[in-house]
Formats: sequence, C-alpha cells, structure tokens
Amino acid sequence: MTLKIGVVGVGMIGREHIQRLGNKLVGAQVVALNDVNAKQAEDVAARLPGAKTYSTGEALIAASEVDAVVVTSWGPTHETYVLAAIKAGKPVFCEKPLATTAAASLRIVEAEVASGRHLVQVGFQRRYDKGYRALKKTINDGVIGAPLMIHCAHRNPSVPEAYVSDMAIVDTFIHEIDALRWLIGDDYVSAQVIVPRNTRHTHAMLDDPIIVLLATRNGVRIDGEVFVNCRYGYDIQCQVVGEDGIASLPEPESVPLRRDARLSTSIMQDWKLRFIDSYDVELQDWIEAAKTGKVNGPNAWDGYFAAVTADACLEAKRTGAVIPIVTSPRPAFYD
Ligand code: NAP
Repeated sequence: MTLKIGVVGVGMIGREHIQRLGNKLVGAQVVALNDVNAKQAEDVAARLPGAKTYSTGEALIAASEVDAVVVTSWGPTHETYVLAAIKAGKPVFCEKPLATTAAASLRIVEAEVASGRHLVQVGFQRRYDKGYRALKKTINDGVIGAPLMIHCAHRNPSVPEAYVSDMAIVDTFIHEIDALRWLIGDDYVSAQVIVPRNTRHTHAMLDDPIIVLLATRNGVRIDGEVFVNCRYGYDIQCQVVGEDGIASLPEPESVPLRRDARLSTSIMQDWKLRFIDSYDVELQDWIEAAKTGKVNGPNAWDGYFAAVTADACLEAKRTGAVIPIVTSPRPAFYD
C-alpha cells in the first residue's frame, strides 16, 4: 500500500520533506499541498506529478485522497492542523514544536486521548540519529552505570538578525530538551538559565551564549550551552557522566587529514547536513507506522512535555530563579 500524504506548509523544511518523501523514501506519495502562500504551493505542485493544491489546510486534511498529514507550516498554526487531523482520524507528523504554548500542546494531548488512537508524531529527529541511538544503547546496557550528569552544547556558526533570545530555547535548545529526556528516560523537575557575558558577535535582541541547567526526577543534573554565534561551525556535543564511566555522542564522520604540518578533521557548517540521515529514518519509520494507523515516534505527550520545559526555561531566564517544571498528570494512554 502507498501512503497518500498531504503536506501543509511548503517552506524550507516542508520542501525538504517533500523531496525526501518523493525521491529517497519508499511507500509514500505526496498527493496534496497547501500553503498560506498559494503561489508557493502551486510552484511545488507543478514539479510533483500527481499532486494537487488545496486552498486551506483544513480542506487538505479532510480530503478523501489524503491518508496521512505532514504539518510543516509556521509553529503558531500547528495546533489547528494537528487538531483537524485528529478529528479526521488521520495520522499526522508535525514538525517541532507540536504547538507554541504548553496550553495548546495539552489541548492536542487531550484530543488525541479522547480519540483513543495514537495519531500524532512530533518531528524530534535526534531520536533517529545513529550517534544518539548508539549513546542511548550504551547507557541502557549499563556500561557507564547510572547517569549522574550530562554536559551538552548546541552551537551554530551564526544566526540572522531575526533570531532573538527566546528562539535559543524554543527553536534551538528544544531539541536537547526532547533528546536528553529520551536519552536517559527521565523527566525534568526544574530549570535555571545563566546568562554569561555576551559574545561581541551577537546583536541587541539576543543573549548569546546562555547556559540552561536542568534537574531530573532521578537527580541527574544537566548543563546545556546554547551558543549560536560561535563562528567555527555547527557543533552538537553531549557527554553523559555515569557512576562507572563517561559516554559521549560520536562526532560526525570526517576524514582525518595530515597536511601542511597539521592533523585535522573538518567541522560541519550546516545543521541540515548534520541530521540529514535522521530525517530520512524518522520519516520512513513514520510512513510504516502510519500505514498501520498507529504512530510510535515522539508523541503528543513528548511535545507537551517539551513545551512545558521550554516555558520554564523562558521564565527562568527572565527571572533568574530556579523554576519548577510541573505538568498535568500523564494519561495512561501514553504508557
Ligand atoms: P518556513 O520556511 O517559514 O516555512 C513555513 C511555511 O508555512 C511557509 O511557506 C509559510 O508561508 C507557510 N505557512 C505559514 N502559515 C501557514 C498557514 N496558516 N497554513 C499553511 N501554510 C502556512 O519555515 P521552516 O523553517 O520550514 O519551518 C517550518 C516548521 O518546521 C517550524 O515549526 C520549524 O520549527 C520546524 N523546523 C524543524 C526543524 C527540525 O530540525 N526538526 C528544522 C527546521 C524547521 P509564508 O512564508 O508565506 O508565511
């Protein structure tokens, strides 16, 4: 069976996912497109045999030819489209964030639970990265004993002027928020944010770098650096300190070079290339699961938990205080 997919939002990541669904992955076909910018949707459809455009996301989701939905529109629109997909009983892959507020994310959780079906997957692709999976297996196998601390860093070479302080948490560190919770199978209980001296490469609306401190239910302490004008490259670091040893996220493959009296390896510049394989694995996995009518990747509860944590980090940064991370009770549906 070919899964017939409708995509809402054909901007940067939407077009990338359409390209991988059409050219790299198997078992799916993009048959329907929508974008608030109709011309953009028509341009993409013109290059996609068999795809047609819909004037609204809601019409696309309701269309009988659409089996499953990919939401890659602007974050504030996610709630509406994910709720519409749940209402239509269709599996939906929603790029992160699930929604831009914890309250909106909770409405999605409640709607999914009420539907009685696992329909929502959130685009937290790091869970599908080879390196993160190897690190998780090392931890789960007990090789380093119980995790005690995690030191991590999310560094970008530079960001545009439009990137402002909150984005360091809600767009950037949100990936660590989800990946680390999944990595050690533990929930966060508090957040604190430290703002060191700014780099001279930042601008008036962006504190850069910042350090996010998280504590988990089991007492693990996490320090996460977000430094988005680090200049030298796109660099994701993660080191888990356990009772019996330390395990680190593998570096991306790079050929070691001996040349001109130097031994060197290159560092990536583009975040899209760093996780390109994991986007492929993530969406292929979703296609297979969606065909069964039940998705099994990062779910609406994970999206909600990430939103609550991000809100706590924002408040912690604003107030300088340690902010408790408190969610509503987890429905047994997500056990
Ligand atoms: P983008 O390039 O701005 O694309 C978003 C598209 O959605 C634009 O074409 C936009 O049209 C359209 N849109 C806005 N409102 C809409 C609506 N109500 N209905 C239908 N379409 C609408 O942004 P992007 O970088 O692709 O990001 C899209 C989402 O993916 C964001 O939530 C982002 O956080 C997420 N993302 C995730 C990752 C990851 O690593 N997992 C990476 C990148 C992005 P206009 O341009 O005309 O507004």
